[in-house]
Amino acid sequence: MNAVAWSKEELVAADSEFVIHSWSKQGGLNARPIKGAEGSWFWDYDGNRFLDFQSQLVNSNLGHQHPKLVQAIKDQADTMCYIGPGFAEEQRARLAQKLAEITPGDLKMSFFTTGGAAANENAIRLARHVTGRNKIVARYRSYHGATAGAIALTGDPRRWHAEPSMPGVVRMLDPYTYRCPAGHPSPCPVCSGGPHLEEILQFEDPYSVAAVILEPVTGTNGLIYPGENYLRSIREVCNKYGIILIFDEVMAGFGRTGELFACDHWGVTPDILITAKGLNSGYVPLGAMTVSSKISDWLQDNKFWGGLTYAGHPLACASAVASLEIMEEEGVVDNARRQGERLGAGLAELAKRHPSIGDIRGRGLFYGLELVRNRDTREPLVPFNAVGEAAKPMQEINKAAMAKGLYLASNFNVLRLTPPLVINDEEIDLALETLDEVLDIAD
Ligand code: PLP
Repeated sequence: MNAVAWSKEELVAADSEFVIHSWSKQGGLNARPIKGAEGSWFWDYDGNRFLDFQSQLVNSNLGHQHPKLVQAIKDQADTMCYIGPGFAEEQRARLAQKLAEITPGDLKMSFFTTGGAAANENAIRLARHVTGRNKIVARYRSYHGATAGAIALTGDPRRWHAEPSMPGVVRMLDPYTYRCPAGHPSPCPVCSGGPHLEEILQFEDPYSVAAVILEPVTGTNGLIYPGENYLRSIREVCNKYGIILIFDEVMAGFGRTGELFACDHWGVTPDILITAKGLNSGYVPLGAMTVSSKISDWLQDNKFWGGLTYAGHPLACASAVASLEIMEEEGVVDNARRQGERLGAGLAELAKRHPSIGDIRGRGLFYGLELVRNRDTREPLVPFNAVGEAAKPMQEINKAAMAKGLYLASNFNVLRLTPPLVINDEEIDLALETLDEVLDIAD
């Protein structure tokens, strides 16, 4: 490095004066200065080490500073840092070919972006062009990104601050069986998917709907797993009306749930698959939109009206090619499944001691712990979209965990447990021990 490294004080001063941090009031933010990271751990300037039980933004799936991944980026930097997206470039083509091989069903061609939101934007635009229709059905408990179109698709309150936003978005409810918005009658039309979608379409004109977009497993909005037939019944309704089904697997894709893709659990294939985060563990910004053979064929005769200066950036694509090789060589998906079982068993033990644990939801290393004040009434530990004092109990748990060297995150009353997929037995056990200590705050 040419520049002399800053002291902690210099970093903190410049950061707090000049950097705008995401989703935050900037005054008094005091972002923790981080000096380094390796594997499942990162550390600050004072030598405090943290077990990254969040994988940062659920993207550091292969852990920090994986040597092969770092080397692939260095090698590509030596070869060619950048060439425009209009040219054929080896890493871009290798990655697209590999995605055609490993994604489910007949998903074939890929368009690469700088992240998840941009990939969702392009999926919506393409679905509208392919169908010649306008409306998009999205769910309330969803997050699809922070750009103009992606935040319009998002159902959670982050959307409120971007409104009025992209027209044409229609919403449906979520298969949130623990707090079913329909009261969960048997059979439940909302939690079974198709009947609820069908009802909505009758009021919207099914032939005006271009796409349905959903996270097969809901991420930031509470780790919600659908029932056995949910995705299949949504797929059937989409088929009936010629609606394009988009799965947003930005968070759940690439082994996070113990299968390569979350939709593999249910054997349902979308027409468009959106990925990012785990695609290359976030070493260089990257997202992908992978489309079915039918849409790939359509694109042979129709123009794709989308483009980005950094579409298929060679450094990002090289890192993704390496990342996918590492996943195979190191059996990363198997490890996620195995460690997920260890984590799930440990959480079930914790639930015996901690009455604040209302529900445990997870597969692989994609777990949510829903905390309640009362197990019988399911009164949440903090109300939905709580701010200020009301949000404090969850913040205190995260703070206490951090003080003990465990980095956790939560949304509403759900703790997110999403460690790197390369985590080992000792690290899982250490996290469980710390959780055992900090959950006392909620009991
Ligand atoms: N979709 C889902 C399901 C996500 O979880 C996220 C980010 O957390 C996004 C889209 C947006 O991705 P990005 O922040 O890379 O634009």
